[in-house]
Amino acid sequence: MSLKGKTVVVTGAGKGIGRDVAKLLAGRGASIVALSRTPEDLASLEAEIGCRSIAVDLADARAAHAAAREAMPADLLVNCAGIANLQPFLEVTDEAFDLVYAVNTRGAMIVAQEYARHRVSVGGGGSIVNVSSISSFIGFENHTAYCASKGAMDAMSRVMANELGKHGIRVNCINPIVTLTDMAVLAWSDPAKSGPVLGRIPIGRFAESVDVSEVIAFLLSDASAMMNGLAIPIDGGFLVR
Ligand code: NDP
Repeated sequence: MSLKGKTVVVTGAGKGIGRDVAKLLAGRGASIVALSRTPEDLASLEAEIGCRSIAVDLADARAAHAAAREAMPADLLVNCAGIANLQPFLEVTDEAFDLVYAVNTRGAMIVAQEYARHRVSVGGGGSIVNVSSISSFIGFENHTAYCASKGAMDAMSRVMANELGKHGIRVNCINPIVTLTDMAVLAWSDPAKSGPVLGRIPIGRFAESVDVSEVIAFLLSDASAMMNGLAIPIDGGFLVR
């Protein structure tokens, strides 16, 4: 599954899963174009893996289009930028809902659109991995906007897989359970909160970034050449419990 010589755009590469994915892919020989919001994160990633980077707020549609065009040419795309804004359903604000959608769903759509336009024009196919969530299958309390945005990402990806497949561009979602990034370690450190969720995971642990990154690397590579239009849980069996 070497990605030697491939250029991969990774959004949300400043922190968390996106950063770890960028590092793993760079270790497999890929050149990374990192898109994220905080310039300091991108500068430190550049120092670490020698990538190209573009600072952008993907909630701004016009800026997102421009940044995605600037990121080309590229062979492969990972849409990982995402936010959560937890509110009980009765208190969800219009503004919070729109912002979560703008980043998680529309932002991913825009970057994929610019990437796919480029790939169609140069030929040779491609692969897009959209980082969704197990939340697209489950109605987690206080996650209205987040669950909706990830469910929409799955649905959007099926359309993309359908329309882009004829150009040799595959599109898949991955749907991780809680993944222990630095922030998630803090958020899930209370056993009262983590215990009930862990109790439903047959494997008996949360995901680590590497569990997610390895699946992304596989889906980007030709080893997964017949996989298209899927939403793949990375959940240790949570959904079968
Ligand atoms: P982090 O908050 O650690 O990292 C998110 C990254 O996305 C950051 O680099 C952030 O930059 C960037 N980002 C957020 N908003 C914007 C924006 N408007 N424009 C550009 N970049 C932006 O999140 P995780 O690593 O935990 O999550 C990554 C993805 O994985 C998300 O899509 C999330 O929904 C998904 N996921 C995460 C799980 C988990 O438990 N961690 C489980 C399932 C799915 P900045 O900090 O500068 O804003």
